[in-house]
Amino acid sequence: MGAVAAGPDRPRSGAGPRGRGRERSAMTSAHRQALFAAIFARDGGRCVHCGRPVRPRARGLHRAPDLATLDHLTPRSAGGRTVIENLALACQACNNARGSLSLEAFRATRGRAGEGG
Ligand SMILES: [Zn+2]
Repeated sequence: MGAVAAGPDRPRSGAGPRGRGRERSAMTSAHRQALFAAIFARDGGRCVHCGRPVRPRARGLHRAPDLATLDHLTPRSAGGRTVIENLALACQACNNARGSLSLEAFRATRGRAGEGG
């Protein structure tokens, strides 16, 4: 009566090839354009910060204060993602001025109080 249950009991080493924090943020230009078009339409072609109309990037137009840019509402440094919910249309002037400030901090620097919203 010696029932010996010897199963193949190999210890699993749980060290899989995971945990490589390789960030793949290379968006295709088609994807980028689609994203841009969607946000441009949603925000009515105006900067969400100053309300001025912005103009889409065009051939030969790379720098202009009213050039349309996509601004991360939650900065990427704070974990904000490049998704439409976290992006807003902003003119280049505002985007530059904001830098990596949080949206709240940036609005505070503008001192625009009481304009509904
Ligand atoms: Zn602006």
